[in-house]
Amino acid sequence: MCYSSLYRLSRTLSQSCIKSRTLTAHHVSRNGRRSFAATARSRLMEMSGFSEEQLAVREAIFKICSNFSDDYWMEHDLTETYPHELHAALAKDGWIGIAMPEELGGSGLGISEATMMLQSIAESGAGLAGAQSIHANVYATQPVAKFATAEQRKRFLTKIISGEWRTCFGVTEPNTGLDTLKLKTMAKRDGDHYNITGQKIWISSAQVATKMVLLARTTPLEDVKKPSQGLSMFYIDFDLTQPGLEAKKIRKMGGRAVDANQVFFDNYRIPADSLIGEEGQGFKILHCSQPVADEHDRASDYARERIVFGRPIGMNQGIQHPLASAYMHLEAAKLATYHAARLYDSSNPDHPAYDSSVTQHAVGVACNSAKYLAAEAAFTACERSVMSMGGMGYAAEYHVERYLREVFVPRIAPISRVIISIFSSRSLLML
Ligand SMILES: Cc1cc2nc3c(=O)[nH]c(=O)nc-3n(C[C@H](O)[C@H](O)[C@H](O)COP(=O)(O)OP(=O)(O)OC[C@H]3O[C@@H](n4cnc5c(N)ncnc54)[C@H](O)[C@@H]3O)c2cc1C
Repeated sequence: MCYSSLYRLSRTLSQSCIKSRTLTAHHVSRNGRRSFAATARSRLMEMSGFSEEQLAVREAIFKICSNFSDDYWMEHDLTETYPHELHAALAKDGWIGIAMPEELGGSGLGISEATMMLQSIAESGAGLAGAQSIHANVYATQPVAKFATAEQRKRFLTKIISGEWRTCFGVTEPNTGLDTLKLKTMAKRDGDHYNITGQKIWISSAQVATKMVLLARTTPLEDVKKPSQGLSMFYIDFDLTQPGLEAKKIRKMGGRAVDANQVFFDNYRIPADSLIGEEGQGFKILHCSQPVADEHDRASDYARERIVFGRPIGMNQGIQHPLASAYMHLEAAKLATYHAARLYDSSNPDHPAYDSSVTQHAVGVACNSAKYLAAEAAFTACERSVMSMGGMGYAAEYHVERYLREVFVPRIAPISRVIISIFSSRSLLML
């Protein structure tokens, strides 16, 4: 692992731990505003056993995120405003390039450290929206870093790392959904250009992106032997001022700080050198990006302080046990997630921890299992947080309703739990 670059990144950090933020909570009653106990937020996740470098990432990210209060995230959710300030702060200190090559200004670290960064952002109170606001720049650009030519890498990634550009990720289509191999958006070669025609849906951050990682067909489905053939990966300029490109925002349940869009291509013209890797190999290349998720539960603070029937509700086993079980499931999901990230890094020949015995199958099993477990554990933790807090769990002021709205997404995207279960049943259990 390239520790020197991490030290370069983190040298501006203070050596001392970051103080926990002090949150003031208010309980609104019919009689007006009644003061409820102030709670100093503790960090809930147990982080023993992680490397010094990973913990340094965590401290640095918490420090940056401490400038973005719960109210910041509530406001951005309510007003559907992208968190430009968080993106700028992370870019300023080099974090967008955490898993990018050093020669481009990145840190050359692995997906394990990138995962730690995303977890810490979510855990800081930014929730899934905070992580989602930057995750395409970190993960979706991995295939570009791996498969683009040296010249393309320099041209495409330097400005992503510096924060000047942002990326969105264009795979899902309205009429094919999880059946990705059937996607229909076509990129037709025309001299030194391609013309793109088709439609994408649910594209996050398209309103603020400058670039898009695009999966499109270069050979129609009916002309290929297998549906996995004829798909190509492009890294395109995403310029909504140009003819043939349109993005329409989708109104959605949660994570509203990050826009989701329908995207329409109508003979949108891109230079031929936007192609990444070989034509027709796009599906293989796509599998280089593996998102992972984790969540955080704050209901225990409330349960310690809310008095009903003469004692804190947290003294009742009916409150304690569901929260304890949710916590243990988060712990298990965290271990599965970092195990998957470690295997992913070890399977990468460019990573210092490369281990040729780690197969793509092993990585696939670990990533799918971690994705499933983390999404379910996060959902359960958020649902139990809301329920443990009674009516206040439903109030925006306590933030857990926001987390619950957001946490449906990892159960749906990028692949749903049903599809992971199908993969596990067929590929692992041979059913
Ligand atoms: C907030 C949000 C952000 C997103 N961001 C992006 C993005 O940036 N870029 C991008 O490309 N995509 C993005 N997506 C899209 C996401 O990846 C898709 O929603 C996801 O892949 C599911 O596809 P679908 O919605 O078309 O569901 P469908 O494929 O229509 O599936 C609908 C339901 O049917 C179930 N189902 C499907 N097949 C089977 C089967 N064989 N057996 C049993 N059940 C089945 C599914 O599990 C699901 O519950 C985002 C989605 C959301 C909600």
